[in-house]
Amino acid sequence: IVRTRFAPSPTGYLHLGGARTALFAWAYARHFGGTFILRIEDTDLERSTPQAVQAILDGMAWLGLQHDEGPFYQMQRMDRYREVVGQMLASGSAYHCYSSPAEVEAMRERQRAAGDKPRYDGTWRPEPGKSLPPVPPDRKPVVRFRNPVDGEVTWNDLVKGQITISNREMDDLVIARPDGTPTYNFCVAVDDWDMQISHVIRGDDHVNNTPRQINILYALGATLPEYGHLPMILGTDGEKLSKRHGAVSVMDYPAQGFLQEAMLNYLARLGWSHGDEEIFSMAQFIAWFDLDHLSKSPAQFNPEKLAWVNNHYIKQADDVHLAELVRPLMVQEGAQFDGAPDLALAIGLMKERANTLNEVAAATMLFYRQPQPDAALLAQHLTDVIKPALADFAARCGSVVYDKASIGAMLKEVLAAHQLKMPQLAMPLRLILTGQLQTPAIDAVIALFGQSLVRQRLAAYLD
Ligand code: GLU
Repeated sequence: IVRTRFAPSPTGYLHLGGARTALFAWAYARHFGGTFILRIEDTDLERSTPQAVQAILDGMAWLGLQHDEGPFYQMQRMDRYREVVGQMLASGSAYHCYSSPAEVEAMRERQRAAGDKPRYDGTWRPEPGKSLPPVPPDRKPVVRFRNPVDGEVTWNDLVKGQITISNREMDDLVIARPDGTPTYNFCVAVDDWDMQISHVIRGDDHVNNTPRQINILYALGATLPEYGHLPMILGTDGEKLSKRHGAVSVMDYPAQGFLQEAMLNYLARLGWSHGDEEIFSMAQFIAWFDLDHLSKSPAQFNPEKLAWVNNHYIKQADDVHLAELVRPLMVQEGAQFDGAPDLALAIGLMKERANTLNEVAAATMLFYRQPQPDAALLAQHLTDVIKPALADFAARCGSVVYDKASIGAMLKEVLAAHQLKMPQLAMPLRLILTGQLQTPAIDAVIALFGQSLVRQRLAAYLD
């Protein structure tokens, strides 16, 4: 059975890279009917904050990446880590090391000077027949993992293929500090073991940690999970994604008017593909998702493509649903909804070219503001030649059906009677009804406004 996890460190917001990792781990579990676990790696007390935990939970909730187990917090698992440290000391797979930080530093200096890779020299590592130095008084030891000295660690990475690291490359890792607190790689290994993770899917900034974690898991007698390391996400300039590239926190996107569906669809395509498919639902993604079609090279974050995907989902969305999302934005901008056209209908008319909900709101505001046509512009368009046609139009306003086709037919009759062309009447009508010259088709605008609003706005301009 498949058990995956997302294990963020709560040191900031949930960024796009983290969200993509979470999405892939989630989709992998869902694809196999498995379990998705959320684990908060909060042992870095200086950098972890409750706000960052909340930001992660909010981001996951907005994306709809629901976990089946957790959230587990590493800080709440300290007793368990201590217990495992104790077991490892007892079994001999870990040992107390009394070398002081200064001694370890001096050791490293010597090794660097000799051109060697710095590593713990094994002073306190017990070996058969070796006698250890006397324990220095009043010194609290660290606990070190007894990393194998021979052989190598090999795993078949689900993304990168086979990776082999010689054990000689690896240090005797400190797994517990002098105060007894466990260290990062150790906690991850214990958690993955306890939580029976079958597939570790994470960013490739963790590749170097993997052989260390594998050795610890071997020492614990654990069954190894499979590992898949996702290439990172770069900006369009090829640099690592950062604030310079705009919003990197997932929660900035709903704030900027991106739809959950669009974000998920876009993230799913960052480093994974299914032929040329660009637009697909999460149900489809779950059905298709596999680790074989992950790219081995970094993905590029392209804001324009995200905007294109968002536009697609806006066009496809139910206008009543969009109205619910957009209304609060418009209220903030001072929209007046009393007696105004139905928002869902207005959105249907305006959303075609909108890339974000904010753009939907901005485009739709047209119908929810008191029109204030520019006097000079109005004089230019509402000439004495046009006024009788406007009066004729107004006279017919009370007895026409307010749909686009009927309004269109009525307008044509008026134009014919006065020997005018459409723009000659449409332009002053636009100005009077909306205060603007640029609107969607005038028959559609009139139909949207409805009888009472149209008559009310026309009244001021009839002699
Ligand atoms: N806590 C790590 C991070 O946020 C992830 C660890 C893991 O997935 O193993 O980068």
